[in-house]
Amino acid sequence: MNSNHPFDPGCIFCQIIAGQKPARVRYESEHVFAFDDIHPKAATHVLICPRAHYPTFLETPDSVLAILGQEIKSVAAQIGLSHHGFRLVVNNGPASGQIVFHLHYHMLAGARLGGF
Ligand code: 5GP
Ligand code: ZN
Repeated sequence: MNSNHPFDPGCIFCQIIAGQKPARVRYESEHVFAFDDIHPKAATHVLICPRAHYPTFLETPDSVLAILGQEIKSVAAQIGLSHHGFRLVVNNGPASGQIVFHLHYHMLAGARLGGF
């Protein structure tokens, strides 16, 4: 673990990123970590996180959001979705349904997804 990263020992995604809790890892880089959702809502359901712990989208520094935006393209390529298409979802705060307060993008794909 890079000790320069904000880290919350009680956060399940920090634990996964630190290798303390198992997950099916799909992509990793210096700043970004992606793994399968434990309760997939589509044939492909990957959670894309900054390694650093920021509870919500709005609390995440712009520099980190910029890196995530760039690397979402790399995640799509890594899991073979660059040409297939996918849906990105970010819950922000309890009213959105966010339950894990470590920023993550949901990347969803499979057979044609239902209307949103
Ligand atoms: P949120 O509602 O916070 O945007 O989504 C959190 C997601 O994390 C949910 O889709 C949930 O299934 C997933 N999740 C919760 N706990 C775990 C876990 O321990 N491992 C993995 N891989 N996913 C989890
Ligand atoms: Zn965390």
